[in-house]
Amino acid sequence: MDTDYAIVPLPAFNDNYIWLIRRGDQAAVVDPGDAAPVLEYLERNHLNLCAILATHHHGDHVGGIPDLLEQFEVPVFGPAGEPIEDLTQSLMDGDHVELAQFGVDFEVIAVPGHTRAHIAYYDRNHSSCGALFCGDTLFACGCGRIFEGTPVQMRHSLARLAALPGTTKIYCAHEYTLSNCRFALAVEPDNAALQKRAEEVSRLRNENQPTVPSTMATERNVNPFLRWEAPAVIEAAQRISGKPLTQPDEVFTAIREWKNRF
Ligand code: ZN
Ligand code: FE
Repeated sequence: MDTDYAIVPLPAFNDNYIWLIRRGDQAAVVDPGDAAPVLEYLERNHLNLCAILATHHHGDHVGGIPDLLEQFEVPVFGPAGEPIEDLTQSLMDGDHVELAQFGVDFEVIAVPGHTRAHIAYYDRNHSSCGALFCGDTLFACGCGRIFEGTPVQMRHSLARLAALPGTTKIYCAHEYTLSNCRFALAVEPDNAALQKRAEEVSRLRNENQPTVPSTMATERNVNPFLRWEAPAVIEAAQRISGKPLTQPDEVFTAIREWKNRF
């Protein structure tokens, strides 16, 4: 019998996903930028909201929290050190979030870079694969913009995520995969795994299907922001910056800056 919780994408705004987890009649949401799709789903499925989790303070991730709290008196988990109204549980690297309703114990991984205290939630046991809710840090075939941290911090954060098991499913907060693949192909035109993934992604988008979750194994093979050690990525970074680059941080920084202008 499968007693695991289910994970459902709730599309919001243009390209956000609010991830809803559910088991029995209980639900929790990750990054509810908008309350409307959450309330609608809860009502339609007769679910009770029991927790809200936020990865970082941006409005498209936390904007729906006040409206949800008007209907449900629930704990709001999120990073310590970011301005999130209504936060009740401030989290730091290594903290755990136990939600008994789902039989889950999330590990909190600090992944600064996109914002100064961005966190990810990791359940190593989900569905025998592992589940990672990583907000705007790691995207399918891409990574978040660096708004408050430094490229060195961001690469370190991504390296920590990349070290998780290959089976880990990646529940990121945006459907950016198609345009990310376009950039990734500019970096590594000859990467066969990437070519295959790009085809799959464009098929899925044509069918209006989500391209996420991805898996960590796939990302290690196709995502230019995890591939600072791949010779083709190093070469592309050197070409675009017009100088020899030897350090992973330099390679990552050059690729990230290129993406900003792509
Ligand atoms: Zn963001
Ligand atoms: Fe976002």
